[in-house]
Formats: sequence, C-alpha cells, structure tokens
Amino acid sequence: MNFYSTNNKNLSASFSEAVIKGIADDGGLFMPSFIPMLSESFFNAIDTLTFQEIAFLIAQKFIEDEIPKNDLHKIIEESISFNAPLVRLSGNISILELFHGPTLAFKDFGARFMAKTLSFLIRNENNHVTILVATSGDTGSAVANGFYKVEGINVVLLYPGNKVSEIQEMQLTTLGENITALKVDGTFDDCQRLVKEAFVDRDVISNKKLSSANSINIARLIPQSFYYFKAFAEVKNENRDLIFSVPSGNLGNLTAGLIAKQMGLPVYKFIAASNANDVFPKFLETSCFEPKPSIKTFSNAMDVGNPSNFARIIALYNGDYSKIKNNIYGASFSDTETVSAIKEMYSKYHYTIDPHGAVGYLAIKNYMSLADNKNISGIVLETAHPSKFPDVVYQAINTEIEMPARLLSAMKKEKKSIPISKDYSEFKQFLLQN
Ligand SMILES: *Cc1c(COP(=O)(O)O)cnc(C)c1O
Repeated sequence: MNFYSTNNKNLSASFSEAVIKGIADDGGLFMPSFIPMLSESFFNAIDTLTFQEIAFLIAQKFIEDEIPKNDLHKIIEESISFNAPLVRLSGNISILELFHGPTLAFKDFGARFMAKTLSFLIRNENNHVTILVATSGDTGSAVANGFYKVEGINVVLLYPGNKVSEIQEMQLTTLGENITALKVDGTFDDCQRLVKEAFVDRDVISNKKLSSANSINIARLIPQSFYYFKAFAEVKNENRDLIFSVPSGNLGNLTAGLIAKQMGLPVYKFIAASNANDVFPKFLETSCFEPKPSIKTFSNAMDVGNPSNFARIIALYNGDYSKIKNNIYGASFSDTETVSAIKEMYSKYHYTIDPHGAVGYLAIKNYMSLADNKNISGIVLETAHPSKFPDVVYQAINTEIEMPARLLSAMKKEKKSIPISKDYSEFKQFLLQN
C-alpha cells in the first residue's frame, strides 16, 4: 500500500519509506492511500482469535508484502507481547486497560511495534538512523524502551523541562546506551516544533538519516488500532452500540480508532476526551480549529495545544466537518473534575484510575447523561497506570498505590540529560555535532 502526505495527495511513499521518513518531505503526515476493509468473516470469527492474530490481520492489510508474513508475525509477537484486558465497571461502562506494557502506558503498543518494524526495515543499512522524539512524557519512555539497545538506531528524546512528572523524567533519562535525553527549556509544543524544523532542514537531513517515532509515524498509528478490535471482540455478543472514550492529546489514539471504524469496526461513536487543552472539542463545537499554547494540567500527556494528528482526521473525512461531528463527540474537563472522578471511581467501583483515564470516564458519563440512546456499551481507554501519577491519585483517594516493579527499578538509576534552550539553532548544533 502507498501512503500520501496530508499536505499533498500526490506525494506518495511505500510503507517502508513512510516508516523510515516518519514525516513526508513537505512536512505533511503520511496517510494510507485507502482504508482497507476487513471481511465479514473476520468480524464473524473475531471472538475466536487471539489478540496477536487480530493484530497480524490488521497490520497485514496496510503492510501487504513489504514485510514477509513470518517476519511480521515475529514483529507482532515481540511487540504486542502484553494484553489489553477489558474490566467491567458497571452495566454499560468498561475500562480498556492499555497500561500492561513495559512503561505502563498505551504508547508501548505503538512504540514497540514501530521499533521492531523500523529495525527490520533498515536491517541492511550501513548508516545509523537517528530517531527524534518530542515527548510530553509517556511517548518518550515507551519509544526509548522499544529501541533500547537496538542495533543501528540512536534515539534523541526532547522533553519539556519542568512539565513532566518526576517518574516520567526518571524513565526518560535513566536508560543511557543509545538513548540521549534533551531537557528543553520550553513546552511540549516547543519540543515538537524543534523536531519538525529538523526534518525540513537540508543541513541536517543531508548529514543524518532522521526518523520520527512520535504518534505521527505511521508505524505508531497502525498498532494503536489493534486494541479497538480486541475490545469489540469482547463485547460483540451484547449487541449494544459501542462507544469509545479516548483521553486525547495529539489525537493519535483517536485517529487509530477512527481508522478502525473505517475498516469496518462497528463503532457507534467516539468521544474525544480532553483536559483544559480543548482545541479539538472546540473545533467540534464551532468548526474552527484554533491551536493555542498548551496549558499544564494533571493529565499532562494530554497537554497539547496544536494536536498533530488533526490533519489526519481531516484527511480521513475529506474535510467534511459534518461527518466528523457525527462520528465524534468532544468534551473537556478541569483538574478539579479529574480529581473528583478519580475519587468517585474509587469509592463507587473500587477502581483506581489515572488522571488521563479519569478524563475519559468524565467524558463518557457526560455523553451518557445527554444521549437519547440508552442501549450503549461505553469503553473508556485507560492510557496509563495510576502509579505513574502518585501525587494526583493520592490527592484524590488518600491511598498510596503500589508501583509495579518495572517502574521501581528505573527510579534507582542515575538521571542523565542535556539541557537546551527552545531555540532551533541550539538543537541543530547538537544534531550536527553528535
Ligand atoms: C499520549 C497519551 C495520551 C494522549 O494520546 P494521543 O494519541 O496523543 O491523543 C493520553 N494518555 C496518556 C497516558 C498518554 O501517554
């Protein structure tokens, strides 16, 4: 399959070109040239398939023969190597736990699949590939983990100096080896801008083979659709209208869900759940897309003022605002509401949710209170493990939550990062010298 640039439909690339480049030459995001449909027999049998079998069948629709079957099986086995259990909260609300990977965030799905895919695609290259990652927290550690000690690949992480949690910073800066962390004196949007500038800077790209592992890489996006199918398989027999509430920042997770729907997954509605960074819900309300500087919140992986996958959503619906509005409901919530939701879920359901998932829960409750349709099955995507946000969770429920062993071990190592300003020239100099 070919992939086109969201800036220019005529600029196209193969799957492997798109994965290696990350972003199109004109700065656009890659999109599949068409959305492949899954067969009726696939949906009939979906509840008899394993998660990895589902993942394979979906991935293959996009990758076709660019990766031989056996190699693709291996990539999936090594990357989608943990489950995404669906936990029932009440009659019609469930939580899809996406935090069972090594860094306890849903980004492990995309990052690990992308890491294994990329190292397969460049297996015959002589030059190192440098992966640039702007991270608001979770992306960075998931990507770094996926690429850790992978031959032929260097990773440069850019994170906003004072805007990630202590634990996130630990996860970003303690790996070492082929992973370098840059602490940017600025916001996540500054980090993202620096990365974007490097990709279109002739001096840099003539010198270095760059790739990106943000949610903008197509190999990050495709695996994020896998678990929507998996969740459907579990509730399929209930014959209710399926709603996914997606805690959203850069809109990568939501875009993957929208792609799943266009592949034939019967989803009644998506909910874009935002914190105070409400550019996308505002767009759904007014049809005006107005990027803003990001605001710091408790659900900090969603603190995005200019969501990069917006261009993909527009492309998926050919710019048809009314179709987008029909498919997606948007809502935004404050930190105070987030804390109350964590508290409510704990007392009502004995479920400890993280601040991102809490925003998703608020959004689905809000939707359900307004919707006429009562025959629905609402699934909240829980995008991170609550122990990654101990302060907020403690504030809500007054109880310490146990930190899984894999997080604890990162906390014991030495933090190493290089401070840089938000000026592009400094970042450029770093790239050219390293
Ligand atoms: C990245 C992230 C999000 C937002 O996902 P997008 O794909 O950027 O919209 C939500 N929650 C957590 C925990 C994240 O790490």
